[in-house]
Amino acid sequence: MDGLALCNVQLQVEKAFRDHFRNRKQFKLPKFKKKRDKQSYTTNNTHNSIRVDFKRGLLYLPKLREGVKVELHRRFDGKVKSVTVSKTKDGKYYASILVKTENPRNKVVEPRSKACGVDLGLEHFVTVTNDFGSYKVEHPKYLLKAEKQLRRLQRSFSRKQKGSKNSEKARLRLARQHAYISHARNDFLHKLSKAIIDENQVVVVEDINVKSLLRTRLAKSITDSGWSKFLTYLKYKTEWYGRTFIQVSRFFPSSKLCHRCGYKNEDLALNDRTWCCPACGEKHDRDVNASINLYFVGLGRSERGTVEQALVDDRSPNGLPKKPSCDETGSSTAKG
Ligand SMILES: [Zn+2]
Repeated sequence: MDGLALCNVQLQVEKAFRDHFRNRKQFKLPKFKKKRDKQSYTTNNTHNSIRVDFKRGLLYLPKLREGVKVELHRRFDGKVKSVTVSKTKDGKYYASILVKTENPRNKVVEPRSKACGVDLGLEHFVTVTNDFGSYKVEHPKYLLKAEKQLRRLQRSFSRKQKGSKNSEKARLRLARQHAYISHARNDFLHKLSKAIIDENQVVVVEDINVKSLLRTRLAKSITDSGWSKFLTYLKYKTEWYGRTFIQVSRFFPSSKLCHRCGYKNEDLALNDRTWCCPACGEKHDRDVNASINLYFVGLGRSERGTVEQALVDDRSPNGLPKKPSCDETGSSTAKG
């Protein structure tokens, strides 16, 4: 470790204490680090002490005469500001390089579709409707399989005697599996969100707090961490690429509205995967219908580059009357 690295640690510790004394509730006292947890240090570039040799795949760090062999993920131009070297729980080393560059903007593709509605699902990961129709994206099979394996490793680890060599081996296997799942899931979520952003100008999603309540016993960990991360990715990518992100209010009944006539099906149960509209006779797939309703919300707005929380209430999104007349006739016949 060089002097600048120590300096950075000093700065971080000072900030931690400063934050703590300013706001004790939000910022806890800094803790000592456990050796087993993720470890890292940050050092700054002075007089070209940090360099990258792209041809030979070497990273030069202060205090090390020889370059460190690294796997480089991309080329970059610009001035290296600092580097953070970290060791993760599964024993791998990573170097994150901060670079000052002239053109940070990513290439923007012209969207083919004006809007899209994204329904987050339990059986399928998402159901999307845009100008070209509806499609479903499955939960990746390899993730489901890896989650199963993770549960097996967790059981194996908890059975081992604490502090033993076998326990350490099991811990490492578990940490590796955790890392694999997190990388694989992030990869999936990044690719899917980027594909949606590339294709559509306006992206409309529902309020997931409501959806989370519906979930309860059906699916757990995958959907849990997946949904909120997915929405976070969609949100910041819409900002990057000049698209519009709309999250509808929790009172918008995207599943209950008939997308064809605007009838609101109050009796729709949580496990109804399909339903038939009593007003117009249209047969609905629950998820497709919901994504179509979200798509309609998006069609109404196509201003560029905003992120907003839509204040949509119980109105039908396509401007149709809230209650069709057949709803009334239905209730009167029930009386008689
Ligand atoms: Zn209908």
